[in-house]
Amino acid sequence: MGERPQLISDGHEMRRWVRGAQQSGQRVGFVPTMGCLHAGHLSLVRRASEDCQRVVASIFVNPTQFGPHEDFGRYPRQLPADLDMLSSLSVDAVFAPSVDEMYPAGYSTYVEPPAIARRWEGECRPGHFRGVATVVLKLFQMVPADASYFGHKDFQQARVIECMVRDLNVPMEIHVEPTVREPDGLALSSRNAYLSEEERHRAVGLWRTLQLAQQLSHGRTKASDQMLPQLHEELGRHVDQIEYIAICDVQTLEPVTTVRPGNVVLIAARLGSTRLIDNLVLS
Ligand code: AMP
Repeated sequence: MGERPQLISDGHEMRRWVRGAQQSGQRVGFVPTMGCLHAGHLSLVRRASEDCQRVVASIFVNPTQFGPHEDFGRYPRQLPADLDMLSSLSVDAVFAPSVDEMYPAGYSTYVEPPAIARRWEGECRPGHFRGVATVVLKLFQMVPADASYFGHKDFQQARVIECMVRDLNVPMEIHVEPTVREPDGLALSSRNAYLSEEERHRAVGLWRTLQLAQQLSHGRTKASDQMLPQLHEELGRHVDQIEYIAICDVQTLEPVTTVRPGNVVLIAARLGSTRLIDNLVLS
């Protein structure tokens, strides 16, 4: 194991650290996370360290992106284990602010997310992207890196952040990296820890459904109303509740009527009390 990264919880100190590195000519990469790290997060860190001389990861379970009945309270938190995992990679600093540091008494400013946030996750989780956009913009102020790294796994989130950065002239490169999966295709997620053994087996249904979409579209154009019933049937065989299956334009995230290569299939489903999302861009 390498050296433990420097742990910083103060926003001003974090900003000075990043500015100092940049003033000595180093490019700084930033990987924001909510912790409970897995190989998906680590792939973002590896990508950042290929691109940048210095890498900062943040660990912050952001209360403003959780709805009142969501899993903020039970979201897994394991800072010491996360720091151990990051020690094995070339992470130089970990920014782990407290909730009070991010949202002190009297905090009342929020980012109105772009139009692309309206559907899908935005509809199922009211207020979610307002919280995401707010915390990401705040983190970008405290960690004013050159580039930041996000996962394709949260496809709509990455698009929301790209739009926000463009619309608000935020000087930050956004990189979106491929989804890391278990051998059976299940996308790695901190929330997979909630699944019982039986639910874990059924969770592969999300990936099977995405693969079916790929097979049905076969690299040709096809009507989405021909494909969607079969996708619903496949996913319904595995999960307890389908929140949505949509085939969308990658730019607008509006549903398409004619499916073409390059469209994205978005899925959200529940197994017991666990909510999982996944997606695939059709090739
Ligand atoms: P989270 O800790 O869930 O907020 O995720 C932090 C970052 O890791 C986000 O940019 C996610 O999209 C990304 N991420 C989560 N799961 C995966 C995965 N399986 N593969 C690649 N990136 C991921």
